[in-house]
Amino acid sequence: MSEPDSGSDLASIRTRAERVDGGYRVNGTKVWTSNAHRSGYMIALFRTRVVPEKKHEGLSQFLVDPKSPGITIRPVIELSGSHHFNEVVFEDAFVPEDMRVGEEGAGWKQVGAELAFERSGPERYLSCLALLGELIREASTDPGERMAVAIGRLVAHLATLRQMSLAVAGMLERGENPNLEAALVKDLGTNFEQEIPEVVHALLGCEPTAAGSDLQQVQAYLVQKAPSFSLRGGTREILRGIIARGLGLR
Ligand SMILES: Cc1cc2nc3c(=O)[nH]c(=O)nc-3n(C[C@H](O)[C@H](O)[C@H](O)COP(=O)(O)OP(=O)(O)OC[C@H]3O[C@@H](n4cnc5c(N)ncnc54)[C@H](O)[C@@H]3O)c2cc1C
Repeated sequence: MSEPDSGSDLASIRTRAERVDGGYRVNGTKVWTSNAHRSGYMIALFRTRVVPEKKHEGLSQFLVDPKSPGITIRPVIELSGSHHFNEVVFEDAFVPEDMRVGEEGAGWKQVGAELAFERSGPERYLSCLALLGELIREASTDPGERMAVAIGRLVAHLATLRQMSLAVAGMLERGENPNLEAALVKDLGTNFEQEIPEVVHALLGCEPTAAGSDLQQVQAYLVQKAPSFSLRGGTREILRGIIARGLGLR
């Protein structure tokens, strides 16, 4: 979905898929494409028709074989040194007609439904679960009151988020539109995920380091990763805008 000039304002994407014999010719650039270098297929949102003043129209989704001619995948290396992201450049790449997903022009509605899955799924509140596990292991059978209260609070939040996530899955299953509810799960889930490394540091006082104990290694990895949790799948500000609109406040 994302492009160099289109992140939060996704409807402004410019990568163009023009009709040609048997399919579409694609030109443009995608960025932050998770695991494009490992994937057999990517699902991409392109502009199949330019509708002046109506940027949500004329968008379509495609399954794309990233090894096709005209597609270049360039790595974007993260702060942690890992290769997760990519820039994907399309230069006169051909995508066959039967690789279009759904109807031409229905892309905006389709990505909205997919984002509801992405924003409310377990991977939006479980990213730091391994660190919570390490904290519990460290606390062992005699955590002391301060640590017991902190762990109890985190586990209670985890159980609540799981219930909320399951409730959104139920709405999707019934064909309902959970835009507002999914944004709530992601906003709360992200806060929860980002809080865990802070709580561990405050309770144990151990410094994150890649050369330390298991706990310190998990901590070091997550301290570098955690800032990205409130960006991927929609930033905090965008989610709160969706929530405000859903509640009729804007
Ligand atoms: C770990 C990770 C994985 C990702 N994986 C993928 C992927 O696989 N595929 C993909 O397509 N993208 C992916 N992304 C990209 C992600 O979706 C975008 O980073 C995100 O949508 C924000 O877009 P942006 O980075 O262009 O920031 P911008 O949209 O430029 O936003 C910059 C800042 O301005 C704020 N802002 C922007 N508009 C408003 C507004 N209207 N009101 C208030 N504040 C606003 C934002 O909240 C943010 O703080 C990934 C990102 C991360 C961090």
